[in-house]
Amino acid sequence: MKKHQAAINKHILSLSLMTILSIVLASSLWAKPIKTLIITGQNNHNWEVSHLVIKEILENSELFVVDFAISPAKDEDMSSFIIDFEPYKLIVLDYNGDAWPDLTNKAFTEYVDKGGGIIVYHAADNAFPNWETYSQVCALGGWEGRNEKSGPWVYWKDGAIFKNNGPGIGGSHGTNHEYPLNLRNSTHPITKGLPQKWKHAQDELYDRMRGPGNIGDLLYTAFSDIETKGSGREEPLIFTVDYKKARIFHTMLGHAGKTVSDNIAMQCAGFQITLLRGAEWAATGKVKQKVPKDFPSENKISLRKNYK
Ligand code: ZN
Repeated sequence: MKKHQAAINKHILSLSLMTILSIVLASSLWAKPIKTLIITGQNNHNWEVSHLVIKEILENSELFVVDFAISPAKDEDMSSFIIDFEPYKLIVLDYNGDAWPDLTNKAFTEYVDKGGGIIVYHAADNAFPNWETYSQVCALGGWEGRNEKSGPWVYWKDGAIFKNNGPGIGGSHGTNHEYPLNLRNSTHPITKGLPQKWKHAQDELYDRMRGPGNIGDLLYTAFSDIETKGSGREEPLIFTVDYKKARIFHTMLGHAGKTVSDNIAMQCAGFQITLLRGAEWAATGKVKQKVPKDFPSENKISLRKNYK
């Protein structure tokens, strides 16, 4: 009888140990990789390269696991492109193409409303110029018929964000070139510890972007020189967006190259590290990553050709 009781006691003890263990495991859930979805499949850019490279960058950090939602090709039936946002803490927008089905638009809006994490990457801010929620998620967009009706031009002038309601196109860029990025916020988790100025590898420099202009924290700007056929303005290129409860990181950098290995703008360590920090912040509200030693300096670009 005693032996039986001892066995029961032992059983109870092991059950409580299991309970403690599962509580410990549950409380360390944050250490699990962040479930991420890249939306792509149509773009006026080389999405076949960019979506693979973004997955590489994110997964090489061991902080993220990445799935793809790849749309049907342009002009094909989009009705099957239904996205379930529920499993994801981070959505990367790498899409510029045909309208999503209503169900996907609705699910995206709900994801945003509930405070989801989002990255707006490069030409994703060209998409859906007439979709109000999407325009708010991007804060600024370009091309696709954008003009003064889309909202003001937004740029950096006399030490502050400046909004210009003048008439004209929304979105342009000069020739691809190397250019310095200028820090505008040194206390935000994404930019804390990053340099005042760093040199970006050869890339487009988006300028004359327009939109609702609901920038949350402006992180980096760059001067779009008329000599490189730019706007002559200090343009906002990396920022967070203030929209409902969502955490949104917008980077205009990273024009995709011809192949994964011939892809200099995305091979820039500065592009990759700001993307990783923006991704962690968008998903969790914090940035625990340390600033790596290979971050570009003021005068010298730095490449991570293998995306790690
Ligand atoms: Zn581009």
